[in-house]
Amino acid sequence: MQMINITLPDGSVRQYEQGISAMGIALSISEGLARNVLSASVNGEIWDASRPIQNDANVKLFTWNDKEGKSTYWHSSAHLMAEALEALYPGIKFGIGPAIDNGYYYDVDTGDINLTPADLPKIEEKMLELAKTKSQYIRQEVAKAEAIKYFTEKKDEYKLELLEGLQDGQITFYTQGNFTDLCRGPHIPDTSSIKAVKLTNLAGAYWRGDEKRKQMTRIYGITFPKAKELTEYLEMIEEAKKRDHRKLGAELELFMFSEKVGQGLPMWLPKGTQLRERLQNFLRNEQEKQGYQMVVTPHIGSKALYVTSGHYAKYGADSFQPIHTPKEGEEFLLKPMNCPHHCEIYGVRPRSYRELPLRIGEFGTVYRYEQSGELHGLSRVRGFTQDDAHIFCTKDQVKGEFQKVLQLTTMVIKKMGFDNFTAQISLRDPEKPEKYIGSEENWQAAEQGIIDAVSEFDIETVTVYGEAAFYGPKLDFMIKDALGRSWQLGTIQVDYNLPERFELEYVGADNQTHRPVMIHRAPFGSMERFISIMIEHTAGKFPLWLTPDQYAILPISDRFTPYCEEIKQALAKHDIRGFIDDRAESIGRKIRDTELKRVPLMLIIGDKEAANNQVSVRRQGDGDIGSMTIEEFISYFDGLLGE
Ligand SMILES: [Zn+2]
Ligand SMILES: [Zn+2]
Repeated sequence: MQMINITLPDGSVRQYEQGISAMGIALSISEGLARNVLSASVNGEIWDASRPIQNDANVKLFTWNDKEGKSTYWHSSAHLMAEALEALYPGIKFGIGPAIDNGYYYDVDTGDINLTPADLPKIEEKMLELAKTKSQYIRQEVAKAEAIKYFTEKKDEYKLELLEGLQDGQITFYTQGNFTDLCRGPHIPDTSSIKAVKLTNLAGAYWRGDEKRKQMTRIYGITFPKAKELTEYLEMIEEAKKRDHRKLGAELELFMFSEKVGQGLPMWLPKGTQLRERLQNFLRNEQEKQGYQMVVTPHIGSKALYVTSGHYAKYGADSFQPIHTPKEGEEFLLKPMNCPHHCEIYGVRPRSYRELPLRIGEFGTVYRYEQSGELHGLSRVRGFTQDDAHIFCTKDQVKGEFQKVLQLTTMVIKKMGFDNFTAQISLRDPEKPEKYIGSEENWQAAEQGIIDAVSEFDIETVTVYGEAAFYGPKLDFMIKDALGRSWQLGTIQVDYNLPERFELEYVGADNQTHRPVMIHRAPFGSMERFISIMIEHTAGKFPLWLTPDQYAILPISDRFTPYCEEIKQALAKHDIRGFIDDRAESIGRKIRDTELKRVPLMLIIGDKEAANNQVSVRRQGDGDIGSMTIEEFISYFDGLLGE
């Protein structure tokens, strides 16, 4: 028997007999690992764990803890659901059934049967019954003619249409139990690991996304290896609904949308504006300490600007279309990013190396066309403000500047209460060079620059190919919120290309002209998106320093209004902000409403408080704190701020 070399992710090389499977490799490491293996990457391709490996290969095993493992698991669950559907509704036809971010779906043609949510529990039950039979997912290579014959007999025109696009030699079937599907795989070893099932939704979906074709029924589902995980998932979904930033944004009067203004164009209400400006001021102060200079640029720029920058060639057709002046025949585009304007600012006059690094910042509002179906509250909009800055520096300064930005960004993320974050190094897709502009040499320098800068920094990183911007690689910050969901926040990008396109120069110490390097960075990313994440992460209970109203004064009767005004003024002197709730409502009602508004502190004023020059303090979540003088309250407040 011939031996092959298997290289594992840690770089170790093991020898196995030719034909060993990923499962066999897992077994040779530990039985526990083998029990958990769902699929494997073999030389970068995702395979069934049971598929024989014939040649030397790099192998990575995937379990439930890997994105790839979950994806294989959920896609296999779609096959299991199809088997259940076929058992319950003979003659049902199948379209496609992929895994998605959370679970899977399958598009089906149920013929005369009208599936309703009431049918879902029955399907779930059937799936669990079939899963217990521990059916293996068996891969089989099939000749095209044979595949056509199978689905012709089965009268499944959708699979026949999918087969048209496939060539002989690349067609595989997967069978588990009584169900066979046309599929390239991969799949989990067998059905026994599917222990909990929830079919979450029914929707209409056009075959191949074409509205002229048949409308099929899309059945969404999710499965888990443990019942407890399903319960936790459903609880998380419930909690996420409660925290939905669109709902809280309206309740807390932070922002609004108006059909007349246009979809995807948020408008900030006074409280939301306060919140947003407080965030901006915080960052502005930190940036000032680091030598940033703020600028302001217009919301539009001539088409020529974006032809120079390359944005027009890359995104022109998918952007808001040019605005034309009535007389001069000029063409302008809504600004999709701030960099080209900042390049022009750099070029306002000749620059010397002594001015570098030059750090230009702007809270710049940009506009990007998104299809109406893609819009979602503040997280997917058509107009948003970036906390943008561009650092122009020499090649030698790139690493140092990059690290300063890295420091600033991690400081900002931590200050916002996110403790769980990673940095994703986003590099080119080596297979698709046509997606990127700029020379190979510049790309290599930029990619290496990021890798070097990050390597000396104590931060958890992952490297992803194909996620770079079209003009340069980037570092993306991914945070985990209170519900365990991942979000992408700000980015840092190293760019050798735009300075070249704008012919930016500086005179070096050697009296020669050189080209600067540009670093793009935005710690929040966009104010809109960041605030949407912040709302859902905190459930609207913002940190005390950030929250629009820090306290509410709740008088028991309007007799106390003058005393309340006195308190408000005393607190304003200490930059403590809030309001008096002088409505003629009961105190119980006022407390409840203040809690719903997520105001952290309540100062209740009755006879005793007014007589003793005191306030009775309640804190959101903690209840009654006790009575204190204004001075005592101010020092209590300062203590909370410092927490
Ligand atoms: Zn499949
Ligand atoms: Zn930029």
